[in-house]
Amino acid sequence: MALTGVQIFKLLPKTNCKKCGFPTCLAFSMQLAQRKVSVEKCPDISEDAKKQLGEASAPPIRPIKLGSGDSAVSMGEETVLFRHDKKFVNPCVLSVAIKDTEDEAAIAKKIDDVLHSEIDRVGQHLKVDAITIMNESNDAGRFEGLAKVVAAKAPAVPVIVCSENVDSAKAAIAHFKGKGSLLYGATASNMEAMAALAKDAGASLGIKANGLDELSDLTEKAKGFGVEDLVMDSGARKGKEIIEHNTYIRRAAIKKGNKSVGYPVINFVMRDNEYLETMLAGLGISKYSSIVVLSSVDKWKNLVMFTFRQNIYTDPQVPMQVQQNVYEIGTPTQDSPLIVTTNFSLTYFIVAGEIENSKVPTWLAIMDCEGLSVLTAWAAGKFTAGKIANFIKESGVESKIGKKELIIPGYVAILSGALEEKLEGWKIIVGPREANQIPAYLKSL
Ligand code: SF4
Repeated sequence: MALTGVQIFKLLPKTNCKKCGFPTCLAFSMQLAQRKVSVEKCPDISEDAKKQLGEASAPPIRPIKLGSGDSAVSMGEETVLFRHDKKFVNPCVLSVAIKDTEDEAAIAKKIDDVLHSEIDRVGQHLKVDAITIMNESNDAGRFEGLAKVVAAKAPAVPVIVCSENVDSAKAAIAHFKGKGSLLYGATASNMEAMAALAKDAGASLGIKANGLDELSDLTEKAKGFGVEDLVMDSGARKGKEIIEHNTYIRRAAIKKGNKSVGYPVINFVMRDNEYLETMLAGLGISKYSSIVVLSSVDKWKNLVMFTFRQNIYTDPQVPMQVQQNVYEIGTPTQDSPLIVTTNFSLTYFIVAGEIENSKVPTWLAIMDCEGLSVLTAWAAGKFTAGKIANFIKESGVESKIGKKELIIPGYVAILSGALEEKLEGWKIIVGPREANQIPAYLKSL
């Protein structure tokens, strides 16, 4: 159960020494209660207090990794019900289901779809994260055959091995030993054997329950067999159940400190109707699913899910921003134009994209405005003539260009006079208002 600020305060040295960066122990304890700082920031805290606080400040949803190496994805660690309260931490894992009853060509296509699923969107690499192999045949030999193909063709992709049949599970998980896989299919009747297989393979264990009551019983049972890294399936399959169960679980873990449901959730949303499936995946992404298993990962579905997932898991309190710098778009020379704008990610990627479309090599000076867009930054006094002038002078771009000409966004045309005064010897040119006008504008120069 989470401790209050006052309970935490009682465990601190109470010397107000400020070594933690806060003026008082009480101020530090309030931040610790909100999980905004780490207990390690206080160097003088006793080991006993640290242990108590460590347990209390552990995330209510256990952090678990799926996969290994660079392709591993993190799950859990969530601390809030609503992203505007703080942020959601680990994006929902998207996984495609491959059944061992599918033919060779279908299996090869799905693996290929996963391997070629990556797209870039506003500077982030987004992809389908995992493959779920399903023992539809209930035949151990056939399931192992599928496991071998996936292990050989997609060795770096995290895998979820899905079977309630212990013989099948044993045959398949052997091909993913030490790869941080998830062995899914632990029920009341096979728990001991599945727990032993998961431990032996270094895998986390997926609990398959029939409702919420059974779920918490099963997680306790799994812990009794020595498995701590658990992923839970309450049995919810319909949209209404997914929302109800996932919300209940998140609320119980975060608000009530219920450790028996403090684990990532997996939802199976496979449907014959792909539109319904995509919608259910969206439900899972928005309401607390850590893994969504899909029947296919066509590019149109991926675009919907990637975009939605990226938006849900972007920290709402931190504008997306890129580093202040003078970027080379194409291979600009001394004669290339110089454009200045702000460091809001969307601004950067849209402007850079339009410059690329124009095929006119350009210097793009991106000024740190705390991630605000042009008009907002101007209104907030962060994109002013004086600040732009200082940035341009300090950037060193003057030595790279022949003509001292600076193109400013059309929306801040009002700055041109003042900027010309501050940037002595420079000509200020008012560029287009909208990014989509940039290609025609650059070609006309
Ligand atoms: S470092 Fe520890 S003892 Fe010092 S003010 Fe911070 S919490 Fe208090």
